[in-house]
Amino acid sequence: MPPKVIFLDIDGVMNNIGTRAEPERPGMLACLDPDNVAVLNQIVRATGAVVVLSSSWRLSLPLAELRASFAAAGCEAQVVGITPDVDGPRRGREIRAWLDAQPEPPTRYVAIDDQFDMPELPGHLVKTCRVHGLTTRELPQVLAQLAD
Ligand SMILES: [Mg+2]
Repeated sequence: MPPKVIFLDIDGVMNNIGTRAEPERPGMLACLDPDNVAVLNQIVRATGAVVVLSSSWRLSLPLAELRASFAAAGCEAQVVGITPDVDGPRRGREIRAWLDAQPEPPTRYVAIDDQFDMPELPGHLVKTCRVHGLTTRELPQVLAQLAD
């Protein structure tokens, strides 16, 4: 059976206003906040979902490095890939393109993002607040999207 998939943004989701990377605090690892990682771990433990990164970080760092940063930050999710770079910052379209390219698309998926609306994925977007990132407030919505 194809795995459940979380399309994951990073800035404003896996970090918050206090911990996102700034010029004086650069680097991927620095911008994964343990509190936000803990919520993602809760989702992964409850659903067994894997992660596909949709964040623009995927365009500046190789997948191996992104994976290593997530692992080093204590993230239990398996980071299986990244969405393709479709022209323009149309994140929903990039996720759609990833889904369409799968021989067996996931039965359940959710996109978590703080910024983009995704008309290409009606009903599959859970929006976070960039001030807080992913919190337990979003848990019910995310779990509902990934439920059997
Ligand atoms: Mg973001």
